[in-house]
Amino acid sequence: MAEITLKGLAHSYLPDPKGPEDYAIREMDHVWHQGGAYALLGPSGCGKSTLLNIISGLLEPSGGEVLFDGERVNSLPPEARNIAQVFQFPVVYDTMTVFDNLAFPLRNIGTPPARIKERVLEVADVLELTPQLRRKAKNLTADEKQKVSMGRGLVRDDVSAILFDEPLTVIDPQLKWKLRRKLKEIHRRFNITMVYVTHDQLEASTFADRIAVMYEGQVVQFGTPRELFEAPNHTFVGYFIGSPGMNFLPVALDGDRVMCGETPLEVGEAFVRSLSGRHSTNLKLGIRPEFVAVHAEEVPDAMLAEVLDIQDLGTYAILSLRLGEQRLKARVEEDEPLPHKKAWLRFPSDRLGLYVDEYRVEVSP
Ligand code: ADP
Ligand code: MG
Repeated sequence: MAEITLKGLAHSYLPDPKGPEDYAIREMDHVWHQGGAYALLGPSGCGKSTLLNIISGLLEPSGGEVLFDGERVNSLPPEARNIAQVFQFPVVYDTMTVFDNLAFPLRNIGTPPARIKERVLEVADVLELTPQLRRKAKNLTADEKQKVSMGRGLVRDDVSAILFDEPLTVIDPQLKWKLRRKLKEIHRRFNITMVYVTHDQLEASTFADRIAVMYEGQVVQFGTPRELFEAPNHTFVGYFIGSPGMNFLPVALDGDRVMCGETPLEVGEAFVRSLSGRHSTNLKLGIRPEFVAVHAEEVPDAMLAEVLDIQDLGTYAILSLRLGEQRLKARVEEDEPLPHKKAWLRFPSDRLGLYVDEYRVEVSP
């Protein structure tokens, strides 16, 4: 069991890195607490696998420190770190039976045979591999092989953490859902720190209590699914989480009016105050489609927008709108009136975010 701390961690695959773009991991600090169920979420190429490989010891970072319970482990090989890792594609010994594959990590550390049998049966049961135990791994389907691969990660109960690197990629959707629930159940039962890498927000939020969102080699936000939804602290998190993603409108202050291009926006006093005195020209207003108030009739303090498209999704509709030159999306529930051609929009001030140079800043009331 361990708390895993990443301190000033950086990694470049190049021998002589110059700028930030040469780094797969750009200076970051992060703590994975003992016993947590975490997801590491981000698009392909953002550095997720690199980060996992640094934690497990397959890769030595070019800068910073990896600490397990406060002890520096940078140069310790994977065997000495007591961490299990499950990869995207199955790692199994084809000529061995499923039983022997699952027993392998335990035999390696000299576990007594009776205990091996007990653990293998337990893990096989959880993963529904019991009928396959006597079969050679080479005769298994891709799904079954990946389950064996996962089982090898889960079989030791003395590990500090289990790292999963997009383990369900090759698994069909139905089974995927089932296995994710199994993992959660295993987490609850054994209280092992788990870090689950994925590029799928749904997968992340169904597995994890807290999600680390990674973007261009850094963790840009670490929070509960709800925190990521309600107050994304970087525009990337706003885009990436939610479906459709958050609306971001470039804004500028003109006297005491907030302008989006040529169009004045009706936003509260607090937002105006927060905008004044900013030196950056990269200022954005962020609002989720769910929080845009849409009216089919004219109401006071609302902004007139053109309805470009309505996508009816049964219990709700997603509207594509044009406000001045700006496109945005809004979600309207089925019991609310749908506007035709014209819509009047309001942005409730407690749902507005102000983003300066892509990062969210406090809007004080
Ligand atoms: P992810 O797992 O999020 O898709 P990776 O950690 O695999 O991202 O990759 C991060 C960046 O590092 C990418 O730009 C990728 O091309 C680069 N990279 C990954 N592995 C290597 C490697 N072995 N050698 C050189 N560059 C690599
Ligand atoms: Mg990867």
